[in-house]
Amino acid sequence: MYKRFMPKEFVHTVFEITPEKLHALGIKGIITDLDNTLVEWDRADATPELAAWMEEMVQAGIKVLIVSNNKEPRVKHFAEPLNIPYIFQARKPLAKSFKRGLHVLGLPAEEVMMLGDQMLTDMLGANALHMHTILIKPVAQSDGFATKLNRKIERRVFNYLRKKGIETWREQ
Ligand SMILES: [Mg+2]
Repeated sequence: MYKRFMPKEFVHTVFEITPEKLHALGIKGIITDLDNTLVEWDRADATPELAAWMEEMVQAGIKVLIVSNNKEPRVKHFAEPLNIPYIFQARKPLAKSFKRGLHVLGLPAEEVMMLGDQMLTDMLGANALHMHTILIKPVAQSDGFATKLNRKIERRVFNYLRKKGIETWREQ
């Protein structure tokens, strides 16, 4: 039950993802969501810490691509100063959006990690292609309008996991 929505791992922030960890997993590329994964959904620019994290990945030979369902101005404004390629209005969880991402990276699904904060878009679509999925605790407590319904369904999955005794994010 709910297996399609389940990530392989739960992390609190992207900073738990290190080049060493990726090398150990045989991961050569990252497809990452933007809103509430890398920064708050209503923050326009990357933080210095995030820019440094991106740089660390690229220096380590890890390819990074942003795949967002958000509109072009938002995604472009965020990604361009970082020199990170991006796909906007991706329509996750459709398989097509993830396949496009893999094509841009030039890597097979098993060598790519998907980072995202939503089960119903980021995890569902990437799991279908057998990518290494990581669910990040949303950076902000609030969400854009389109995400609110997804969160309702997500809460049901989290309740189920709690009942099953499966550890997600520790209560804070
Ligand atoms: Mg998101």
